[in-house]
Amino acid sequence: MLLDVKKILHVPGESIPFRFSLDLSQEDQRCRQPVQVAGEARNIAGMLTLDFEASAPLDAVCDRCMKAFPLTKTAAGHFLLAEEICDEENDEIILLENGAFDLGELARTVFLLALDTKTLCSEDCKGLCPRCGKDLNEGPCTCREEPDPRWAVLAQLLEEESGS
Ligand SMILES: [Zn+2]
Ligand SMILES: [Zn+2]
Repeated sequence: MLLDVKKILHVPGESIPFRFSLDLSQEDQRCRQPVQVAGEARNIAGMLTLDFEASAPLDAVCDRCMKAFPLTKTAAGHFLLAEEICDEENDEIILLENGAFDLGELARTVFLLALDTKTLCSEDCKGLCPRCGKDLNEGPCTCREEPDPRWAVLAQLLEEESGS
């Protein structure tokens, strides 16, 4: 989806609001519902800014306890639009081609990148017991706290050393 900003390119104070939805169900299986994108391109004293928010309800799975839970993910994008790039290092500048750029592609990239961050059902999710696989959020499991055999060997070595 191209956004043409030619009409505000040289008109300080003008803006172009936009709202559209993206289908990312092919890219990520969590995105079964369309991603809503809303924002605007503005000319602020001759400088073009682009701000938007992309959000969608996800079928998320907690990275720690593997539980499925509903999550509304929102990713924000803040960019500058320019007809030519003078600062190659700045990847927040979007180069315009003939007064337009691919807004759909940009929103897609921003949202997919945000999906890469860790997903937890809650900040203090206790996760699963590495031994029996029980969800420790539901209570402690019956596994006994057996020391790791490697630590037992180390403990014995330390004991022998201090005994000599
Ligand atoms: Zn969890
Ligand atoms: Zn356990």
